[in-house]
Amino acid sequence: MAIAYIALGGNVGDVRETFRQAIAALCAQARAGLLARSSDYRTPPWGDTAQADFINACIAVTTELAPHALLAALQTVERRFGRDRAREHRYGPRTLDLDLIAYDDMRLDTPDLTLPHPGALARAFVLVPLAEIAPGLMLGDTRVDAALARLPTTGISRLPDPGAD
Ligand code: ADP
Ligand code: MG
Repeated sequence: MAIAYIALGGNVGDVRETFRQAIAALCAQARAGLLARSSDYRTPPWGDTAQADFINACIAVTTELAPHALLAALQTVERRFGRDRAREHRYGPRTLDLDLIAYDDMRLDTPDLTLPHPGALARAFVLVPLAEIAPGLMLGDTRVDAALARLPTTGISRLPDPGAD
């Protein structure tokens, strides 16, 4: 049994509803147990800035799957929720992006999977939700909360829980 941290993102369609369904689908698909789920955050687009704001969140799950099998499960869930990699461009609009941020304290560098996720430490849209559920998590040699303290978080806002208004 391993603990995996997964980042969710999207900016096309009803993203918060997509997250809700995708988390349930992932837990079934990956025989995963949901340990924690962050709030949803509205975040400015990154890379290609001429597109809609993103919604981002992070979850922690227990899983019996090995890292590559878990990545395959994430990609199956992305496809099920409409993601078509052939028709999108790097950092462009997408319905659902699922990134494996960490898998226990495993370090891995293979062509299709790097752990911890190499972009996570530089991305406030990953670290803000991750710090809500796992501030003390180590990404390589760096704590999540320490990495976040070094980054600007301008424009990132926590969304109220659905149904909390
Ligand atoms: P991005 O997440 O950077 O917007 P994609 O979701 O299209 O881009 O992912 C590009 C590739 O990154 C995937 O094909 C996957 O094989 C690779 N990859 C490497 N490490 C990871 C990881 N830790 N989590 C998710 N994808 C990863
Ligand atoms: Mg991805």
